[in-house]
Amino acid sequence: MLDPAMWLKRVLLVLLQPAFFVCAISASAEMPVPGEPAQAPATVDMAVKRVSEHVYYVEGTAGVATDNEGFISNAGFVVTGAGVVVFDALGTPALGELLLEKIRNVTDQPVVRIIVSHYHADHIYGLQVFEALDAEILAPDGAEDYLGSDNARERLEERRFTLDPWVNENTRLVYPDRYLDEGTIFRLGDVEFIVTVIGSAHSDGDLTLYVAPDRVLFSGDVIFEGRIPFLGDANTKHWLKVLERMEKEKLVALVPGHGAAANNPDEAIALTRRYLAYLRDTMRAAVEDFVPFSEAYAEIDWSEFEELPAFEAANRRNAYQVYLSLEAEMLGR
Ligand SMILES: [Zn+2]
Repeated sequence: MLDPAMWLKRVLLVLLQPAFFVCAISASAEMPVPGEPAQAPATVDMAVKRVSEHVYYVEGTAGVATDNEGFISNAGFVVTGAGVVVFDALGTPALGELLLEKIRNVTDQPVVRIIVSHYHADHIYGLQVFEALDAEILAPDGAEDYLGSDNARERLEERRFTLDPWVNENTRLVYPDRYLDEGTIFRLGDVEFIVTVIGSAHSDGDLTLYVAPDRVLFSGDVIFEGRIPFLGDANTKHWLKVLERMEKEKLVALVPGHGAAANNPDEAIALTRRYLAYLRDTMRAAVEDFVPFSEAYAEIDWSEFEELPAFEAANRRNAYQVYLSLEAEMLGR
């Protein structure tokens, strides 16, 4: 049962959408009909780019969430000898269908697993297409916070209007089969996959996927390239470990959640690795010497990073978050 306050909120939310007035007329014709497609097909260009022996991705165009029929984020897929692993599912079921069609052009192998970088609308509404194939869906811990939130339901209501007819009454929130609270390594055919759970960095929960034999990293929306990342409650210890490994192995490609693959993946990794290591080293010294945070922060030389974009907005909070997490690590919490 929907409680009345919630019902009123939803009705208001819908009425306040400018697109409501245009779409309300056609909405009644949108009832699912058995045997009919669940939504209009996507008509956007979706070129598949091959990055390495096993790895492919499609790149959404830069823009706001409702541009380009919602195709503004990236998704990838990895073809092994024993099935396909998909990374993220795009922002509408129609785009999910188109992605599946593109995968089918490359291989007949079944899609066996989907790894979701994080639960935000532009990466997840295509999931129902893959769920219907019985593929196993894995998501980072924290996705359940999003799925349980009003925000998740309100966003879907909004997209049913703003991305009509590609998101409609047949579009659902798809729950993962498993939540990962820590990283995991799995092998499919001849390909080893390393999932790193970063924690709450860009969203309530973020993860990255490393395709080991190809040395390709899917980073989701966790920032690596050319700016200061926002760390949120990220687990910098895990994050640093995976960066150190990738720096040693030399990446072939870094595929972000939006935009083109990084031109110089090693540089992107090295910058982020140096930044996290510097934060951890300086904050550890402060915590060990019982120096209060603001005093320590003021005395640290930030010159290597202070010219980078987002430094002003993110650095002090990042440093404070690392300070607190090191205190907790030291106390064995
Ligand atoms: Zn995104």
